[in-house]
Amino acid sequence: MTAKSHKFPLPLSSLDNKSTHRTTKSHHSATVATPQTATQNVRQHVARQQAVKNNAGLSEDKSAKNTVVVASPRKSTSAQAVQTTQAGSSQPSKPMSSANLAAPRRAMVQRLSQAGVQDSVVLDAMDTVPRHVFIESGLVGQAYVDASLPIGHHQTISQPYIVARMIEIMRNGRKLRNVLEIGTGCGYQAAVLAQLCENVYSIERIKLLHELAKKNLRSLRIANLRLHYGDGMHGLPQVAPFDGVILAAAGMQIPDALLQQLAIGGRLIAPVGERQQVLQLIERTGNANWTKTVLEQCHFVPLRPGII
Ligand code: SAH
Repeated sequence: MTAKSHKFPLPLSSLDNKSTHRTTKSHHSATVATPQTATQNVRQHVARQQAVKNNAGLSEDKSAKNTVVVASPRKSTSAQAVQTTQAGSSQPSKPMSSANLAAPRRAMVQRLSQAGVQDSVVLDAMDTVPRHVFIESGLVGQAYVDASLPIGHHQTISQPYIVARMIEIMRNGRKLRNVLEIGTGCGYQAAVLAQLCENVYSIERIKLLHELAKKNLRSLRIANLRLHYGDGMHGLPQVAPFDGVILAAAGMQIPDALLQQLAIGGRLIAPVGERQQVLQLIERTGNANWTKTVLEQCHFVPLRPGII
């Protein structure tokens, strides 16, 4: 059903007992609660800034300055067996392996379908990428809950619903060749995008998160994903145009450079606003023509200029 199965040196599906059965029925509900819980979660877990600690021992990839091809010849480790305890519980739980996380992931995908995500290519991608690999060990028990979770540095991994919804809208049933993501964070959405796009470029402005994403993605060996450290507001003119652009952080407006780097016929999706945010879909219809559609409310971390 998707093109994903031949993309990886190590298929992600080999990491668990993924079932190929899933209902494609979708029941669209206009009353789905979509706002992200990002801010609350960040506040609650700010004390847990473990990602900083996790990053401390990371080594720099000397082969590229700001660009990283995620594929690595190293053996898979983290995705194969995650040992953890249930978040929020002082009781040690049984060890979480990829195998016993496949069922919660499938249940998550089923909920996405019930919430109105209809694109089976997107649902398959969500079913394939092990979200728990991108989440700090103390929170792994919540990996397949439909919530954003803290990843350190006051940032969050996006809520699965919003990831699926935005990709579905950007894709619009098309085969995507070149896609740009602004805001790599921990790398989860980039991994999902890589399932259904020929080439994915993702930019992160926080060096330690760029490093964290590299680390998280290494074991998945995704050959068609390139991570960049930089200010995503400038886009990546050297590889433009993009037939899809997706922003994982909300600005007051969509940076002009990103509009210019959108291919004619391409789609950009972004949260826009400060406290009140909405998803905006921009379609480039001509050399100097773009159309804007305002979609549902959402809640993202802010888009900020510069690098740190
Ligand atoms: N894509 C992530 C979500 C990350 S949260 C996921 O898979 O869940 C949004 C990210 O956008 C943060 O890491 C933040 O640092 C980053 N960000 C904000 N402004 C940015 C900019 N101008 N350029 C690049 N990244 C930016």
